[in-house]
Amino acid sequence: MDTCIFCKIANREIPANKIYEDESIVAFHDINPAAPVHFLVIPKLHIDSLADADERHRDLLGRMLVLAPRLAKEQGCNDGFRAIINTGRIGGQEVFHLHLHIIGGHQRLPGMIHHG
Ligand code: AMP
Ligand code: ZN
Repeated sequence: MDTCIFCKIANREIPANKIYEDESIVAFHDINPAAPVHFLVIPKLHIDSLADADERHRDLLGRMLVLAPRLAKEQGCNDGFRAIINTGRIGGQEVFHLHLHIIGGHQRLPGMIHHG
């Protein structure tokens, strides 16, 4: 996926403010943070969205989820955080390379779903 911005981050073609990297996962600060702590956990493998994940990705997705609370704590989330995977058009996904948002800070996060 040569035009995908998150593939470029994974391949080190463009810089990111990384907080973690291993052979299959990268985590970096969101460029437009919604809260004092806001980072993204991505697989190096290009998967368009969670809707395109399948059984083959089970281990990778599991590792991303298990990693997230450890990184959240390192980033100062001592009393919880929110984990979000925006998926597809209805989910408001903007970057079509699967990513897990971890959002937190010092105050309780606002409610997520706006009615009306
Ligand atoms: P979404 O696809 O709606 O889940 O959100 C994509 C997220 O990626 C947004 O929060 C953006 O601020 C973030 N983002 C886009 N480009 C970059 C980048 N180059 N580095 C870090 N975060 C980015
Ligand atoms: Zn990609």
